[in-house]
Amino acid sequence: MKDGATIWKHNTPVDCSWYWRQLNAIKVQMRGWYNQGRYMLTQTGKYSITSSYLALIGQQPRMRTAELAWTSMALPKHRFITWLAVQGRLLTQERKLKLHIQVEDTDCCLCDKKVMETTIHLFVKCEWAQAIWKEVEKWTGIALQINGIKQTLERIRLKHWKKVKKETIAATCGAIVYHIWRARNWKKFKGKSVHIKEAATQIKKEIIERL
Ligand SMILES: [Zn+2]
Repeated sequence: MKDGATIWKHNTPVDCSWYWRQLNAIKVQMRGWYNQGRYMLTQTGKYSITSSYLALIGQQPRMRTAELAWTSMALPKHRFITWLAVQGRLLTQERKLKLHIQVEDTDCCLCDKKVMETTIHLFVKCEWAQAIWKEVEKWTGIALQINGIKQTLERIRLKHWKKVKKETIAATCGAIVYHIWRARNWKKFKGKSVHIKEAATQIKKEIIERL
């Protein structure tokens, strides 16, 4: 009969299928739940399907971040734009170039830095975007923005807040993303500048209405 260590020991063949590799990865992970034959995810040491399931789900941060991006607290149009931004699928000037769509001017139109309009510039680095994040942060009293939309949602997800607070703050971030994209479109296609205060006021109004 094999001892415990031998049962777990298995070298994954190089040419095995994706599914086989995933099963092996899960097996290796499950090994970490046991210590000297004792199941560690419950206080009693008794095996629990729920604890195991939650531990496995915990290994999928992208899924949980998606849940926050799609929170029902956010307006549908905010959810949609936020999700596209998280995926890097908004049609920024940089993305148009990648898709071989003809672009006359690749610069960000919200600032005068003469830098290419990328997702990270538009929503994170651009001074117009930064001003909006700061303005709304003053209102929420919570530092919202870090180095990317996905990272911001991920940080909210990991906070020890109640679910409703996480959803409200995530919805606020979604509203900011939406209004940055809207201000960009107004400038680019209508030649109209949206004032920071005006956008911030609209964001606050839309969030309050959802509460
Ligand atoms: Zn800019």
